[in-house]
Amino acid sequence: MKKLLALGAISLGILTACSSTTPSNSSSQLIADNLIVSPNDDRAYKILTLDNGIDVVLVSDPSAEKSAAALSVGVGLLHDPMTQQGMAHYLEHMLFLGTEKYPDPEEYAAFVQKNGGSHNAYTWLDVTNYMVKINNDAFDEALDRFSDFFKSAKLYPEYTEKEKNAVNAEWSMRREMDFFGQFKLARGLLGEHPANRFLIGNLETLGDKENSNLHEETVAFYNKYYSSNIMKLAMVSNMPLAEMEQKARAHFSGIENKQIPEPVVTTKLDFDQIGSKRIHYRPNKDVKSLNVEFIIENNMSDFAVKPNYFVSYLLSNEMQGSPAQVLKDKGLIASLSASASANHYGNYGVLNVEIELTDQGMEQREVIVATVMQYINLIKEQGVDSKYFEEIKTSLDNQFRFLEKRDEFSYVSTLAANMQDYPLTHAVNANYHFAKFDRQAVKQVLDQLTPQSMRVWYISKNEPVDSKLHFYDGEYKVESISESEVASWSKPSEFALSLPSVNRLLPESFDLKTAATNNVEHVYEGNRVQAWLKSSERFAEQPKGNIEIFLNSELPINNIAARVSASIWVDLYEIEKAKLITEAQVAGMGLNLRNSNGLVLSLSGFTDKQLKLLDEALKGFTVTPTQKQLDQAIDRYIRAVKNKGKQIPYYQAFDAYRQLTREGSFDAEELIDAAKGITIDSFKQAQLDLFKNNLVRVFGYGNYNKADIEKVVSRLEHSFGKQADQDQYVRAGFWQPKLNEHVVLQKDVDVADVAIVDVSVHPVKGYAQKATALILKNHLRQKAFNTLRTEEQLAYAVGAFSTSIDEYSAIGLFIQTPVKGPQEMQSRFDAFKLEYAEELNQLTEEEFAQIKASTLANLKEEPKNLADEAEPYFADWYKDELSFDSHERLVQAAEKVTKDDIKRYFEKTIMNESAPRLNVQLRGSKFKEHAFADLPNQTKISSMKELYKKVKYK
Ligand SMILES: [Zn+2]
Repeated sequence: MKKLLALGAISLGILTACSSTTPSNSSSQLIADNLIVSPNDDRAYKILTLDNGIDVVLVSDPSAEKSAAALSVGVGLLHDPMTQQGMAHYLEHMLFLGTEKYPDPEEYAAFVQKNGGSHNAYTWLDVTNYMVKINNDAFDEALDRFSDFFKSAKLYPEYTEKEKNAVNAEWSMRREMDFFGQFKLARGLLGEHPANRFLIGNLETLGDKENSNLHEETVAFYNKYYSSNIMKLAMVSNMPLAEMEQKARAHFSGIENKQIPEPVVTTKLDFDQIGSKRIHYRPNKDVKSLNVEFIIENNMSDFAVKPNYFVSYLLSNEMQGSPAQVLKDKGLIASLSASASANHYGNYGVLNVEIELTDQGMEQREVIVATVMQYINLIKEQGVDSKYFEEIKTSLDNQFRFLEKRDEFSYVSTLAANMQDYPLTHAVNANYHFAKFDRQAVKQVLDQLTPQSMRVWYISKNEPVDSKLHFYDGEYKVESISESEVASWSKPSEFALSLPSVNRLLPESFDLKTAATNNVEHVYEGNRVQAWLKSSERFAEQPKGNIEIFLNSELPINNIAARVSASIWVDLYEIEKAKLITEAQVAGMGLNLRNSNGLVLSLSGFTDKQLKLLDEALKGFTVTPTQKQLDQAIDRYIRAVKNKGKQIPYYQAFDAYRQLTREGSFDAEELIDAAKGITIDSFKQAQLDLFKNNLVRVFGYGNYNKADIEKVVSRLEHSFGKQADQDQYVRAGFWQPKLNEHVVLQKDVDVADVAIVDVSVHPVKGYAQKATALILKNHLRQKAFNTLRTEEQLAYAVGAFSTSIDEYSAIGLFIQTPVKGPQEMQSRFDAFKLEYAEELNQLTEEEFAQIKASTLANLKEEPKNLADEAEPYFADWYKDELSFDSHERLVQAAEKVTKDDIKRYFEKTIMNESAPRLNVQLRGSKFKEHAFADLPNQTKISSMKELYKKVKYK
């Protein structure tokens, strides 16, 4: 391919920077000899293997303001002992609680916090991955602590007892999440296979039993599997490579190499037992979906020829004649997507087709499954064609050529995970590397997409069930798929199925149109349409950009019918434009419509064909559904509203908190009633009204010139008109905090745990207060976590946060707890606040200086990519802050904050009985008998409707 040849020259810079990287034009080779990085990546890389066998990727980036490291261990739940299921995950928790060199259980978190860092870890089937990010000057000390986890974790018996409660709280939180229940069932039905095991662990599986002691087994698991030869390490920092290498060796060479065999699973599945099944699954959320799952051999080693991607790409296309198109056309489905995961069950992977059904589709699920199978037959017969390889390869190459930097934390995490799965030289590009068209590899996957390897999932509230999941909320029933149904799949389809045609939107030019600028230009001011333009300051070499087109309207803010209609409009538009959206994605662009004070149409990605994309997007912008389509959209809307009530409690609590702060929030019941009242005529009228009553604002950020934006404007003036009926830009009003006003929302929820969000507002508005809250929060958060989680084990999700309500600032605590009712939890919060006041009094100048410095470092951190850079500009633009300086003002205010300021802030808010307060208490089903907490001077509400009668917004 021509495009690839051009890459060599650009990559020379990398070659000189580091001899062990290679430009990506060597990708005709299946596996590269040297590390391949994007031509757009000017960082220096090195790969090496330590004496103890740890593979390492080093990334030296002189401009990095934070350093990060991730270490993955090639073991996960597949190797949990059956006597202590959840062990791999539980050990992941235990590792953070002290080592020989750093024995204090709270030291690590405190160290990371005060040095502007963050840390985390996750456990999955075959991997446990740990990461840390920290200020550059603390990197060496951080590595000393981090590496000690893998050398000499203390695994204190007393914390062994405690931490299982945190794991239990984590399980309690996820128990009602359908993803986890369904994934557990999918593994549970694999017969005697290690993937069967319980991922998270809880008090039932973790603990002392007759023949198994938790502490002893924890130590045994650590001693057995935490061996350097199955570990992979990735590091990013501002240091030169040589220095990084020295650090890697100094800190990680000491991890013991126990020379264990790689923990692999070889258990064969018995497809006679597990295949050809239909699983009826009754989830918590009201969904109507159908999944066609094929279990395939783990073919991770074929990553360079991407057979799974190839097949999924064809299966999920939206062109004329695709399953997505024909089934939508019939009104049977709302969406269809296909994806694959090569090691989903360890030594087996999956290729999954996920379908959202309509009510009509619910009645014809066999037809839908047959259509998928018939399309697979078509792919087998005619689809293994190199033209699709060319298209996918061009798309992946384009993405990789202009690959942007990410946050250091997620970057090392991904690298350390990739290193477990792919050759070291492909740690960076594994997902983009499509070396050649391999007909045989594709056929091998297609050959496995058979009834024997298949499980069809019928997922809805109305499924027949005869069994209950053990660790999760979910019921199911398994049956065999009949031979006659299987036979029907070999018949010709009732639809005119065809393979996709070529993509029209792939970029042909990567020309750069502008030089870097610091200022936002107000480039057009019409009566109705206004436009702003800014090119990138730091990423002007990216031929990409983002255009936001905002149809700002007051209608959906206070008119509930207008609000619901706008949501339904967005839903129907997305279905209508699915083909365009998918085509744009393949071409490296994004198209999205959302509703918020009107409608927002966003275009993003490569700019070359964005105008063409806009033209297509504006064609049929108002939708004209049939009665059936409208009914289906209303059904989806109502279920989505109801399903919000099934979210885990602390998400719901934050949702409710946000609703309290803004005007224009409605209760679920009101929204559902409004949706039920929508007719074809009222919907049409609502679209007309919104189409007519708005101001159009456009903001182009990135690779655009004035002429581009003028073209956008002229298209919009053509579509929406030049004259406006609405004369002012509108936003939803904010709660106006008043002294002694304490709004308390007490509500029962349909999930098990209790969640509380308890916020105190500073009575004085301004940036000084916002900045002070930010610094105080960083101290409070850590104390809350140490006390309420590490020591008292009240929750998995607990902490402190700071926030703003328009110009006001606020600080608060939050928790989701499986062990306390609302009143008990609130009184623990209240007592904790007093304890914290003592701690704050003892804060030294030195400690304060460190917290402040790390807060400032976070605030001032340079954006990593175009989207990061644009974000604060868009935020100000939406807020109508057209001086675009709110971030700058916050930074300036933060520079001035003193230790006394944060103490005073605490006194004026949390310690101040008359400070305005918002308090959300959600009581889960497990705590029905427990009381809510009444607060002094409270304005008690149980719904939004009640709120608006009692409280003022502006
Ligand atoms: Zn966990």
